[in-house]
Amino acid sequence: MRIFDIHTHPILMGSGAKPEEIKQLYTEGKALGIVGMNSLGDVSFYGHCPDAGQCAKINDGNGHLQRLFPDFFTSFCHLNPTLGERVVMKEAERCVTNFNSKGIKLEKTNNASASCMKHIAKAAREFNLPVLQHTWTVHGIAGRRVPRSIQSDPTDTATFARRHPEVKVIMAHLTGFGFRGIAEVKHLPNVSIDTSAGYPEEGLIEYAVEQLGADRVYYGSDLPIREQSVTIGRILGARITPKDRQKILYDNAAILLGLN
Ligand SMILES: [Zn+2]
Repeated sequence: MRIFDIHTHPILMGSGAKPEEIKQLYTEGKALGIVGMNSLGDVSFYGHCPDAGQCAKINDGNGHLQRLFPDFFTSFCHLNPTLGERVVMKEAERCVTNFNSKGIKLEKTNNASASCMKHIAKAAREFNLPVLQHTWTVHGIAGRRVPRSIQSDPTDTATFARRHPEVKVIMAHLTGFGFRGIAEVKHLPNVSIDTSAGYPEEGLIEYAVEQLGADRVYYGSDLPIREQSVTIGRILGARITPKDRQKILYDNAAILLGLN
């Protein structure tokens, strides 16, 4: 079974960038059937609101991984929409040109319903990139720890997707947004979800497949914050068809990112 992990942070809080560490990650991944990883960068290293130079350094980290294992790593570029249109467009263009960035990664610089998100929509349209938005329910304990101004509830990610139906949105962190998050985006065909972060919960994968269809679900781990063995296990253990399982683990990402 081929597996592609759409949500990883091989370099996190400054560690993991040594060639021997990256080689170990590659070897361990291969042992689990992972044929590729999409790096989203060391997005929290400079705090919640990295400036233009810091965003560039985060994205250069992805380039470093891709230089070492070009057939294994793809990447999304990390952008900070609060820095304005000029900065967003310039960095998106640099990442597409230098690293063949396959998407845009948004973390906690702002709420997904904020007006500055129009710059992200513009970059997504111009460079034909999907937008992966960190999303977590604000009603849970983990969600409440972060102020709503920078924490995107599934309602907020849905608002962004509704305003920009031409933009493909990947709402990250299935366990984080849960059953309600799935319901929030069910009728928004431009929204898919990833299964990263938060340990498995009974019935969630099955509910996502039933409500959204397997075509709208991507396997992701949030490595190294979560274990790949556990996060793959939640897909393998779900009561879904083998065809849907393969879509989630590999096929959907292969289509979206143009793998092979
Ligand atoms: Zn993540």
